[in-house]
Amino acid sequence: MKITKIETVRIEEFFHVLWVRVHTDEGQIGLGETWYLPRAVGSVIHDVYSPHLIGRNPLDREALWDLMYGIAEGFGYAGAEFRALSAVDTALWDIAGQAMGQPIYNLLGGACRQKIPIYNTIGSYGKYQDNEWEMRDPVGLARSYIDEGIRMFKAYYMLPAARSNGGNSITYKEIKEALKPLAMIRKAVGDDIEIAHDGAGQWSLPAAINIVRAMEEYDLAWQEEMIRPVNVETHLRLAQETRTPICAAERLISKYHFREFIERGAAQIVMPDLIWTGGITETKKIATLAETYQTPVAPHDWTGPVNVFACAHISMAVPNLMVQETNRAYYRGWYDKFIEPNVVIRDGFLMPPEGPGLGTRLKKSVLERSDATIEVSDQAYEWNWPGFIDPGQKKSNVWSDAPKPAPKRSVRKR
Ligand SMILES: [Mg+2]
Repeated sequence: MKITKIETVRIEEFFHVLWVRVHTDEGQIGLGETWYLPRAVGSVIHDVYSPHLIGRNPLDREALWDLMYGIAEGFGYAGAEFRALSAVDTALWDIAGQAMGQPIYNLLGGACRQKIPIYNTIGSYGKYQDNEWEMRDPVGLARSYIDEGIRMFKAYYMLPAARSNGGNSITYKEIKEALKPLAMIRKAVGDDIEIAHDGAGQWSLPAAINIVRAMEEYDLAWQEEMIRPVNVETHLRLAQETRTPICAAERLISKYHFREFIERGAAQIVMPDLIWTGGITETKKIATLAETYQTPVAPHDWTGPVNVFACAHISMAVPNLMVQETNRAYYRGWYDKFIEPNVVIRDGFLMPPEGPGLGTRLKKSVLERSDATIEVSDQAYEWNWPGFIDPGQKKSNVWSDAPKPAPKRSVRKR
């Protein structure tokens, strides 16, 4: 089996999302996705990854991951390079599942559970305006989750305060004011629903310590990214100051970045974002690394529809799953414009994807949209980056090789 063509698809309506379609000579089309700066990610895919991937066997997922990592890491490996890698890797797993006639979780070790526990992060789209509902009636919003069978939600109670004061300090008066909705919910529904809190990396360490201590009385499921995950020591300090588990972090990229946070206990709940941190290949490894430290994993979402499916396969296959993130405003509001079938959630659980591969497809109509930009690469090319060795190339790389421009790719704007 060979990769013959790699397409990227972006649309104006959801300008953060990028889909990747990897085509094979046996007719499979693998689907991947990432989120944020799709033009930059598309440039990585077409200018440097595709020329090396065309003609390769898409089933060689580890080798191709390592190949892309080798190209990326010369300039600092996170960012668009890793989002591109994540999307391509997901598409390769989709191809593998299709070729073997199995859902991806069966290729990852099989099912550890029959259905996937989820939580809902408060979000809004179209007629689903949970953010507005939260401001107007936080207890009503919490009750709506309970009524649907959703057992946990995640909120950003301190974000407005961080935005107004810069996050370097906070008064107890400001904390109490910000936590009024949380206090109302706990008083009204007791412990009938779990609540997680996300600080979005907005606080300094002393402010974060004061906040997490003040929130302890509400028995939260976790405190997520109260500080930016740039320093293991400060995370350990924060963890030592509170009995609430510290969750980290969607901003950590690859097993290399997660390793120390997991080993040192700075991430007591591990939250990889599959479409940023290295795809299915890497997220499975991060989950397994966490498992060796008896640490649960909670895959991050809040982006596009393919991520939910890709994470679902990880969630099915790893023994140390805690819970998977979802956003009902997204899966009810816009996912089914683009994919079929859509995510299936019943009584607070995500149902395992059905059928071979990812279990969903990009709708044909997406490619016909007037706001779609589709770029296609179909040429193998020996792209030489000094010091980078691609073992699949016929010519050896030498330091004196002058880099050549990437081959032209076809662009279709409708
Ligand atoms: Mg978060």
